[in-house]
Amino acid sequence: MPDRYAVIGNPVAHSKSPQIHAAFARQTGHDLTYERLLAPMDGFVATLEAFHARGGLGLNVTLPFKGQAFAYATRLSERARAAQAANTLKFEGQSIFGDNTDGAGLLSDLGRNLGCALSGRRVLLLGAGGAARGVIMPLLEQQPARLVLANRTPGKAQDLVQDLGIALEAVAYAALAGRQFDLVINATSASLTGALPPLPAGVFAQGALAYDMMYGKGETPFLAFARSEGAATCADGLGMLVEQAAESFFIWRGVRPDTAPVLQSLRQATA
Ligand code: NDP
Repeated sequence: MPDRYAVIGNPVAHSKSPQIHAAFARQTGHDLTYERLLAPMDGFVATLEAFHARGGLGLNVTLPFKGQAFAYATRLSERARAAQAANTLKFEGQSIFGDNTDGAGLLSDLGRNLGCALSGRRVLLLGAGGAARGVIMPLLEQQPARLVLANRTPGKAQDLVQDLGIALEAVAYAALAGRQFDLVINATSASLTGALPPLPAGVFAQGALAYDMMYGKGETPFLAFARSEGAATCADGLGMLVEQAAESFFIWRGVRPDTAPVLQSLRQATA
């Protein structure tokens, strides 16, 4: 019997994780299956436990269950603890290990795939939900010149900063007028609904990189805005998706797959 893994979420039909992990398994010669689990909004734990009872060894966790996965895990990585959210679960006998690979995935995509060094750069992070939570500490570890957090509901950004116990500037969008950044990361879900976060003009510095964590629906309103504002590079979140998946695969299987050919074939499939 092949080992069993899955991604759990609601909705989950759109997830590209099964394709990515199937490609990793072929590449590394690991015998495993990877399926999609649609959990009812009030049925995360029941769905997860049924999967475990059927022999499931590990899960990726997506919207809206990363907080519940964090609470369910009995052992947590430092980065999951910092994010207070888990996107990877591994069943280990009686214990359940929870990790968060979103930050590592973003950093790998920025550094390895896009050639963007963060040290000394001015970074603006948009959003204060689960995705932003997962990437703040990894971004800070790269020692940017500054990291500013902007959110539509400023109180939520301030709560996040307080939860993480860090000194970080958390502002409303209006406070960004007249300021410039070398890297602007859209970690809001605005692109999912075709909306644009209310960014003022002039926020992209010369040579800036605009990064939207969203992927797969053509150019997002955020990336279209960035291009019209003169951002030098515009990137979607497909690379982050593949890189965070590789990190999960490593946690489960102890082998780090080569992400480049997998990302390339996904890009071709979505072109
Ligand atoms: P959450 O629902 O936890 O947070 C959503 C955030 O978006 C909130 O800060 C919310 O602001 C903000 N927001 C929503 N609509 C708007 C809008 N119209 N204008 C401005 N801000 C808005 O979502 P997640 O953090 O989990 O996910 C965010 C995005 O990141 C999603 O698109 C997801 O697909 C993507 N993602 C991609 C990954 C990848 O591997 N590429 C990995 C993880 C996430 P407010 O607080 O005011 O409500």
